[in-house]
Amino acid sequence: MDSNETTTTFYTPSSSSPSPTTSPPPPPPIILSPCAACKILRRRCADKCILAPYFPPTDPLKFTTAHRIFGASNIIKLLQDLPESQRADAVASMVYESKARIRDPVYGCAGVICHLQREVSDLQAQLAKAQAEIISMQNQQANLIAMVCMEMNKSQQPFLPNSMATTHQSFEDDACCFLADDISLWT
Ligand SMILES: [Zn+2]
Repeated sequence: MDSNETTTTFYTPSSSSPSPTTSPPPPPPIILSPCAACKILRRRCADKCILAPYFPPTDPLKFTTAHRIFGASNIIKLLQDLPESQRADAVASMVYESKARIRDPVYGCAGVICHLQREVSDLQAQLAKAQAEIISMQNQQANLIAMVCMEMNKSQQPFLPNSMATTHQSFEDDACCFLADDISLWT
């Protein structure tokens, strides 16, 4: 039944995956006969059945799902119009689209796309907000450092003897360096 097919598996076309190395081509798929399509359509599975490589008898649900939405003749026609190298991807995407349409008869896979687009824009808004907060915090920290340095300069110079003033001066420099190091973590 189709109710078993409610898990969302995102279709990733294999042709888009990078293959920089010259790895040997995958072995041709073992074609079992009759294929799921011919078995379900109750027809003889010919030697060169166009559906057999993509609809093995071990996974009949794959064909029933695609057949329910696209229809066998449309699937066959679509595959005939494509080069063999793209047929597996075409079948995978048709099965994915069919599952989405069965799950959501109104929006189909457009519903999934809209949902993901909404998620992307929500996340982009969150990211922009977080970046604005970082900039504001960096400004606050820079202002604080400037204030601390000014206060330290003001408070120590008139009252302290020279030796003390030097000690405190170096401490102040250290503090400023420390704070400056700290702020650099944010950039
Ligand atoms: Zn067949």
